[in-house]
Amino acid sequence: MPGRRRPERDDASERPSLAPERVLAGRSLVHGRIQAVEVGLDSDGRILRVAKQMRGASRRDFGEMILMPSATDLHVHLREPASADSIENFASGTEQAAVGGVSAVGEMPNGSPPADRVDRLEAKRDRARGRLAVDAFLYGLASHPERISSLASIAAAFKLFECPTTGIDEPPDAPTRVQLLQEVDRVGLPLVVHAEDPAFFRATPAAETLSDWNRARPPEAEERAVTELLQAAPPLRLHFAHLTTVASIRRVRQAGFSCEVSPHHLLLAAGPAADARRKVNPPLRAEEMRSELYEAFRHGEIPMLASDHAPHSASVKAPPFDRAASGVPGLSTMLPLLLAEVRAGRLDLGTLIATACDRPARWMGLPQGRLVPRHAGRILAVDFRQRTEISARRLPAPCGWTPFEGREAIFPAYHIFDGNEIASAGQYTGSRVGRVVRPEFARPPAPHARPSG
Ligand SMILES: [Zn+2]
Repeated sequence: MPGRRRPERDDASERPSLAPERVLAGRSLVHGRIQAVEVGLDSDGRILRVAKQMRGASRRDFGEMILMPSATDLHVHLREPASADSIENFASGTEQAAVGGVSAVGEMPNGSPPADRVDRLEAKRDRARGRLAVDAFLYGLASHPERISSLASIAAAFKLFECPTTGIDEPPDAPTRVQLLQEVDRVGLPLVVHAEDPAFFRATPAAETLSDWNRARPPEAEERAVTELLQAAPPLRLHFAHLTTVASIRRVRQAGFSCEVSPHHLLLAAGPAADARRKVNPPLRAEEMRSELYEAFRHGEIPMLASDHAPHSASVKAPPFDRAASGVPGLSTMLPLLLAEVRAGRLDLGTLIATACDRPARWMGLPQGRLVPRHAGRILAVDFRQRTEISARRLPAPCGWTPFEGREAIFPAYHIFDGNEIASAGQYTGSRVGRVVRPEFARPPAPHARPSG
């Protein structure tokens, strides 16, 4: 049955000499050059072979379109379970992922109630059944050190908030944070941190513009939080969410840890506008810092891209500025915006694939993100001639607005998920075949298992 993964086997059926069930033909980036390729998929929708030419039972030719792996978004807020004023859920959120070329999303734990206990996380996993348009993996909330090991039976990773946020009023204090780092290290799962030290926030005067918000939560708050965590961190799979300053990114990389940057911090800057819709944490930075961040991204200094999709309703983003909720939607537009950057010659396609597709999947232990044998056949066909302007009216998003209105984008012409089409030209066309997944390294060893290569 397509879409189902079988356990790993080391018998003859894995031999690449088998004829593929399906062949996708197009062009692709191989060793830094765009060339004609054909991707052969097996009956489970996994990649069997990639070659210049091959035969298969069925064949789909994408002509001049670029075939690339779909993305993994480590950071989304689908708001499950939802509070009364929430408008997003597993179904609507994962449809936006499918349309935007994302085939696995990491759902953050600050729902209502938060995923801070194993029974809540179990209930959350059960709510996902039959509603996912793409795969999802669930974060447990790192709030109580004594709950980490039970949460680790369901969670794919953990999230630590250092400052209050939607659904989290009281983040753990410094001594508890150290215990949490040790406990997460013990269970061997990844830990993602929202690093901003509230001791550096300035509450007055009340923020009225994006520049005020940048001053209220200044870059130093991020830099100090990063430095402090790096000093406390055991050698765990530590990843810093949505960093905004090149200084903290370099510090994280020097210490051997991982981090992400979000499209809104790459593409939008703070300014005198009283635009509460672009209010986000950490704040948009001044233009000079934004362009520095983009340059670092372009030059491969930032390992990963993640949307931090936070779909608030238009009413909670309404003025006054200082009372509007923080966060912007961005799941369906992340890859399309950056594909437009590639088309404009400002970004390398290889850098985009590495940061959005390959590294996030690898970091989360998911067999996708590269066009190589044994990876899931999750493939985008991109036509770089199909330019469009982002318009909230045409996005499949219940929140009904986007901070990127009017910007150029290139949506994948087709999104193939385990061999089957799930989206085409901005429309979701699939059936809900997504599953809740966990990292391969988190699974208990199966009988006769061998280390994966
Ligand atoms: Zn977030």
